[in-house]
Amino acid sequence: MNLIFLGPPGAGKGTQAKRLEALHGITQISTGDMLRAEVQAGSAIGLQAKAVMDAGHLVSDEILVAMLGSRIRQPDCARGFILDGFPRTLVQAEELDHLLHGLGMQLDAVLSLEVDEAELTERIAGRFSCAKCGAGYHDSFKPPKVAGVCDVCGSHEFIRRADDKRETVAARLEAYRRQTEPLLPYYEAQHLVRRIDGMLDIATVSAAIDAALGTPVDRKITQS
Ligand code: ADP
Ligand code: AMP
Repeated sequence: MNLIFLGPPGAGKGTQAKRLEALHGITQISTGDMLRAEVQAGSAIGLQAKAVMDAGHLVSDEILVAMLGSRIRQPDCARGFILDGFPRTLVQAEELDHLLHGLGMQLDAVLSLEVDEAELTERIAGRFSCAKCGAGYHDSFKPPKVAGVCDVCGSHEFIRRADDKRETVAARLEAYRRQTEPLLPYYEAQHLVRRIDGMLDIATVSAAIDAALGTPVDRKITQS
């Protein structure tokens, strides 16, 4: 099963992608996480990307297409993948189509998470994650079960993203509206889009995603 999560920053893509990864044994590919790892490592790509990410703009298509291309060829993607944060431009979507065609792979669905801007701002403002395992949390909507302790790995260290501050969020939402939203008609033309009401609580959104994926996906899992 090969999926794309489409949706503005803070919509819940990472939260839902991690759940599908655990549930179906397919690989989450978060280009944002990959870029943050490059920044952390101080690599050439990281040095180039940092200022762009801090300003809330999109990193170049050239860098992203190359990065995704090498990631998707890795063996763990053969069982299926969930793209979280890619593609974000029409150029990236077209390049992805070429890449998948060349690899004999195809997309099964594009899950579009729909959330209004006031809610996105609140979700982003309260977002934090475990510094050790990357598990995602929210101050109000998804706090750790024991305050200050990661549910998944027991770590006591948490981090907040540099680009989750209020000043940057407006630029990121603008980039989404202008550069990424046009992907909806692109994938609608391929009959791949499943629209999900992302305003509801996490468990209800998860159930809506499972329902939208439905039997064809389960059939594919059984066959593989
Ligand atoms: P994205 O990957 O789309 O940027 P995240 O999955 O990181 O978004 O979610 C943003 C924040 O909102 C996180 O703190 C997460 O815990 C929280 N969150 C995710 N889905 C929901 C939901 N349905 N309701 C409330 N909060 C949510
Ligand atoms: P995310 O973690 O998906 O919110 O991404 C964080 C930041 O990384 C974005 O604001 C962009 O600057 C950059 N980024 C991630 N994925 C892409 C992409 N597919 N194309 C361009 N920039 C990206």
